[in-house]
Amino acid sequence: IVSRDTHPAGSVIRVRGIPIGGEQIQVIGGPCSVETPEQMALSAQAVAAAGCRMMRGGAFKPRTSPYAFQGLGVQGLEYLQQSARQHNLPIVTELMDVRMLDTFMEYDVDVIQIGARNMQNFDLLKEVGRVNKPVILKRGLSATVSEWLMSAEYIAAGGNHNIIFCERGIRTFETAYRNVLDVTAIPVLKRETHLPVIVDPSHAGGKAWMVPALAQAAVAAGADGLLIEMHPNPCEAWCDADQALTPEELNALMKTLGAIATAV
Ligand code: PEP
Ligand code: MN
Repeated sequence: IVSRDTHPAGSVIRVRGIPIGGEQIQVIGGPCSVETPEQMALSAQAVAAAGCRMMRGGAFKPRTSPYAFQGLGVQGLEYLQQSARQHNLPIVTELMDVRMLDTFMEYDVDVIQIGARNMQNFDLLKEVGRVNKPVILKRGLSATVSEWLMSAEYIAAGGNHNIIFCERGIRTFETAYRNVLDVTAIPVLKRETHLPVIVDPSHAGGKAWMVPALAQAAVAAGADGLLIEMHPNPCEAWCDADQALTPEELNALMKTLGAIATAV
């Protein structure tokens, strides 16, 4: 179903009318985690002011340590939705457990994110395949392109064809940055599938200063959009503080993307 052969022209996925996969580059901005109503109000304001058309924020967080902040849970969905509504921004948030799917539907989550660690959680993929909501499918930490395509096929096989691939960096021998952004995967996926491909430069580099270069490279390589972490006060972020852009940095980056997109 996801093969390019079935839709040679490429497909456009609409999130409350916003097209992903067409001519425009769509940027989803927002904090790693939903923390407080104030932090979310400032985030939504900054994301909208920078020109991003959707907002991210994690309410359920896949943390390496069980003692690290795990996300606010349902309360986080509420803060995310409240802040985003003020600026008419559709919301993107991660689903980790099939048991929360009904709650995601109740809170009217616009895009369900499947995180890297769950790319091959096949039961989770089957369940999101049954709902009528766009899904961002992040690449697994060490997943090959063909494994990634098959995971998308699991979702599509259930009837949900609204899938957006998200390259977020892969594990290699390199330790100088968090992950290696696999820019090569962008044209390869664009050739293999008709579905849109976005890039998360934040989890790839792991440092805020690397984000603009990686984001620009992704757009130059043909990405349909970006997923970028931004925090109103990065030093105080409860999660992934090192990689969060400030509102000013996000704003500056956004201004550079249009010219790159038109040049390619
Ligand atoms: C995230 O986007 O919040 C996240 C946890 O990313 P990943 O699943 O790519 O590590
Ligand atoms: Mn994060």
